[in-house]
Amino acid sequence: MRIVISEFMDERAVDRLRDMYGAGAIRYEPSLVDRAEELAVAVADCDVLIVRNRTQVRGTLLDACKCAKVIGRLGVGLDNIDVAACEARGMKVIPATGANALAVAEYVIATAMLLRRASYLSTADVASGKWPRNQLSAGRETAGATLGLIGFGSIGQLTGQLAHRLGMAVIAYDPALPDSHPAWMDVGAIRVDLDALISTADVVSLHVPLVDATRNLFDATRINQMKPGAVLINTSRGGIVDEAALVAALRSGRLGGAAIDVFTLEPLPASAMFADCPNLILTPHIAGVTAEANVRVSSMIAEAVINAMRPER
Ligand code: NAD
Repeated sequence: MRIVISEFMDERAVDRLRDMYGAGAIRYEPSLVDRAEELAVAVADCDVLIVRNRTQVRGTLLDACKCAKVIGRLGVGLDNIDVAACEARGMKVIPATGANALAVAEYVIATAMLLRRASYLSTADVASGKWPRNQLSAGRETAGATLGLIGFGSIGQLTGQLAHRLGMAVIAYDPALPDSHPAWMDVGAIRVDLDALISTADVVSLHVPLVDATRNLFDATRINQMKPGAVLINTSRGGIVDEAALVAALRSGRLGGAAIDVFTLEPLPASAMFADCPNLILTPHIAGVTAEANVRVSSMIAEAVINAMRPER
């Protein structure tokens, strides 16, 4: 057995794999993702490849995986993996479904509350002796506001539950989830169509995969259909929100705030576009990454790999 892990994984989960298959069977190098040629050589005789979201499992790398049977994904979005091509080669693709949902849901609630108060902006002013109390006294509370969830799968549902407990009204759009699905009732979410959601939510949060139907879903037209002063949060994938149109809506005061964790190009290169943009929180694709989520995601994938590689009786 040979397992290559090309991005970071919790050490205890790596040890679990070492205990199972022997230390020599595991090549764990979190920086291998940045060395394309070495990675292609490393995967040539591996049975299992474990990745996060940066390793592109397609094209040249996939061709180099001559005997892999399993691709473990330390997370949930599968847009960095050509799933159809993997399956055509008999490889099983295993995501860590649900294991980082709480981390993302808490990020959404935290950024929504901060942006609605705008009070996080005052640190530099307060430290320098200014006292911007009047400017910051129009912050808005969370209870009573409406959260609109686009995509109502594991993360959307958990975010809806947290929001409901804070007294928010929850509306959601997810054409693939039937009316009869218990999540609508469990979360207390009202199903609406996309236009209704965009024009009525005080906070819009995106929880859809990046696929053809969601690419550029939040273009300038949809951003400008949002309620004046509303907040937009994107933890799903870059390429779903038009970044330039979002910045324009923030600079004009049309939107009340935005938190963006995922970008069309990652890592985001230095960009004048975002510089000094008001009411904007940018984070480096960490919504789903906490100490606890890393443990859950890593142990889920280690166990799933062991299970998938168990010899059939
Ligand atoms: P999920 O598969 O449980 O839910 C996705 C939901 O989106 C599904 O219910 C699906 O029906 C719905 N959907 C698909 N296309 C849609 C469309 N066009 N309009 C509306 N709904 C649509 O996935 P999840 O675990 O909730 O994760 C959602 C996404 O969040 C992932 O695909 C991933 O890209 C992203 N994610 C980001 C981070 C991060 O750290 N920023 C962490 C985890 C997941």
